[in-house]
Amino acid sequence: MKDKIAISACLLGVNCKYNGTSNYNSKLFELIKDKRVFVICPEVFSGLPTPRIPSEILNNKVINEKGIDVTSYFIDGREKTLRFLKESGVKKVILKDGSPSCGYSYIYDGTFTHTRVDDMGYTAKYLKENGIEVIFFNEG
Ligand code: SF4
Repeated sequence: MKDKIAISACLLGVNCKYNGTSNYNSKLFELIKDKRVFVICPEVFSGLPTPRIPSEILNNKVINEKGIDVTSYFIDGREKTLRFLKESGVKKVILKDGSPSCGYSYIYDGTFTHTRVDDMGYTAKYLKENGIEVIFFNEG
């Protein structure tokens, strides 16, 4: 039986990023070639459109660049992601770093000035708290 792993959809080339593009990374395919892959995008799961207004986390809320609080979408997205993983029996994920959903070693500081902070996105944190292993993936 192949190992199961879930991957951020944008890393696999799905154009689900906020600006309607992807974060395609060919290095990933070598890493997952012997795995059974499940594709996740918490922000799409939440019902947000693509493209969408970029969002960052500020004071534990998710605020988009227009100043609108979209936290409820991000909560919905993380819950749907965890449910999907549990129902699929997936215990490991590779996520797109830096995202307010998927970021796991850094996110942006909520000022929309490209300033990084060491923290996790809404989904990454929630998955980790619920026993899902977030695997480091060197995107460089
Ligand atoms: Fe990629 Fe995650 Fe953002 Fe979806 S929510 S576009 S999977 S980083």
